[in-house]
Amino acid sequence: MGKKLAVIALGGNALLRDNQAGTIEEQEKNATDTLNNLIFLIKEGYELVITHGNGPQVGNILMRNDAGEQMYNIAQMPIDICVADSQGGIGYMIERMLRNVLNRHGIEKNVVCIVTQVIVDKDDPAFRDPQKRIGKIYNKEQADILAAQKNWVFKEEIKSEGGFRRVVPSPFPTGIINESVIRDLAKAGNILIAAGGGGVPVFLDENNDIRTTEAVVDKDLASSLLATKINADEFYILTDVPYIYINYKKPEQEIREFLNYADALKYLNEGHFAKGSMAPKIQACLNFIKNGGRMSVITEAFKLEDKSYGSKITMEYEDDRR
Ligand code: ADP
Ligand code: MG
Repeated sequence: MGKKLAVIALGGNALLRDNQAGTIEEQEKNATDTLNNLIFLIKEGYELVITHGNGPQVGNILMRNDAGEQMYNIAQMPIDICVADSQGGIGYMIERMLRNVLNRHGIEKNVVCIVTQVIVDKDDPAFRDPQKRIGKIYNKEQADILAAQKNWVFKEEIKSEGGFRRVVPSPFPTGIINESVIRDLAKAGNILIAAGGGGVPVFLDENNDIRTTEAVVDKDLASSLLATKINADEFYILTDVPYIYINYKKPEQEIREFLNYADALKYLNEGHFAKGSMAPKIQACLNFIKNGGRMSVITEAFKLEDKSYGSKITMEYEDDRR
């Protein structure tokens, strides 16, 4: 039997928990706890590609940019550079922690981190409707100045503290640069870290030159696209809930452990999954299944000790296959 390939998407919580300050020691500990839970997959013979979020980390990079400009007149870097910085920093950290975890389990594998560009369509409707909030919260006066100076678009914060935050488009990913390299290296037995933070969004101009754009790509959608493009068998999204639920946080809340494609799509359309958190994860899982992937799993980063845990989405119910 040939080896199986799994793409594992690490959510914000796999690296940084809400109640933590964000020190590197905390992130290293969280990463190690999460990566320890992937060992059973390696022992079952899976090749792995790991992707990861970058929300808190790139948020900090953007704020350092802002502070650097104000304090030292350092030119601000555009978003593509900030995302690439975050891929390098987080990817390196995951690589080092994973090498140590593998070493402790006596597993010899190389770990390779690839700074990844993700192709988007420059006519994607998201470019006309920026929604993704990034960076620092500004007051009205500061936001107006930045909007005039830099052409940034702002939206008012809905939370109690108020203020204004920059919004950027979040276009749909359509291609992954170096996808065949990622696939071949993974199939050759190396563990790849790729598409961090959803990848650096780029588009190809009429001469096929790569152009940047002030946007971000959803990490779960990019991870799912990567999983499809490299013909992965299974796709895991590791976040901070053990299962997905219908009627989430309502008295009638119910766990859904085994879902087929049609059920998951129905629940998505009925609004059981919050926009901006669980909905894109379900969409990512569905895209993977629709494009031939065997199984998508959503579960908690620190709990995936074996395959009994988590919600599993397959084209038909798991039970039907037995
Ligand atoms: P990450 O940062 O790990 O990528 P998010 O925080 O964006 O993940 O999304 C995970 C969150 O989705 C959970 O913490 C949970 O509060 C929320 N969520 C919304 N709807 C549901 C649902 N129906 N079932 C489970 N979790 C849900
Ligand atoms: Mg989160």
